[in-house]
Amino acid sequence: MARRPKLARTVAALRRQIACWREAGETIALVPTMGALHEGHLSLVRLARRRADRMVVSIFVNPAQFAPAEDFSAYPRTFATDVAALAQERADLVWAPANVSVMYPQGFATRIVPEGPALAGLEDAYRPDFFKGVATVVAKLFIQVAPDFAVFGEKDYQQLRVVTRMARDLDLPLRVIGAPTVREADGLAMSSRNVYLTADERAVAPTLYRVLKLCAKKIAEGRSIQTILTEGRDAIERARFALDYLEARHAETLLPVTSVADGPLRLLVAAQLGKTRLIDNVGV
Ligand code: AMP
Repeated sequence: MARRPKLARTVAALRRQIACWREAGETIALVPTMGALHEGHLSLVRLARRRADRMVVSIFVNPAQFAPAEDFSAYPRTFATDVAALAQERADLVWAPANVSVMYPQGFATRIVPEGPALAGLEDAYRPDFFKGVATVVAKLFIQVAPDFAVFGEKDYQQLRVVTRMARDLDLPLRVIGAPTVREADGLAMSSRNVYLTADERAVAPTLYRVLKLCAKKIAEGRSIQTILTEGRDAIERARFALDYLEARHAETLLPVTSVADGPLRLLVAAQLGKTRLIDNVGV
């Protein structure tokens, strides 16, 4: 049987454990999650394991990053299974605030408001308060855990850029590491929200990645970005998605680009399939 990770439920308990490791001169990596762990999350945990002596995984469904109409109460919560999976991966500590007020105590009144990549006109155009919620909770996690490394998935590419920028702008002494997207055999990016898909929707869902890859290939061959994106948008809509965006952006700043010469480029997509909103992205 794998050894169960330690469990911290309060900031004080978390800090006691972190202090022990620091006194022993050990390095620490943090993997922030909202739980409902799948292979994508576990790949981040494995990457973290290779970087540092100790590995902390946080599990907190952050209400501040859900809009009122979004799925905060319905979001899948599978804590016991998550901890068992983390034991298999030899995680050292699970940081799971006992309740929302451990993270946001009575009177909480301070938020991080990111700009730059957080205002790129991608996710932020559809979820206006999302990155404020993400940046605020991630800043708190960084300050609570004070890790040497923090691992985030490229799956949430704009989030990765926002968090990387924030760590640099606030002189936080840690390195943000991006990890490649883990996919199902048919190409669908793994996501805790894929459980919402009906069987029919699940069959159509891999279209997003297929279109992204095809567009990336054509752009790399030097064809007009605007023409290729128009074709890609049509293909996604023909497959019954309600498309939010399909865009080519500078891979670091997320600013608009007009040709591969403006590169490195990233293609990013978001689309609604029935009740489920899917996002994905690829490099060019
Ligand atoms: P979440 O629990 O959805 O907030 O995700 C926690 C972390 O796991 C984030 O850094 C995500 O980008 C990352 N992640 C989620 N899905 C995947 C995936 N399919 N491949 C790689 N990383 C992922």
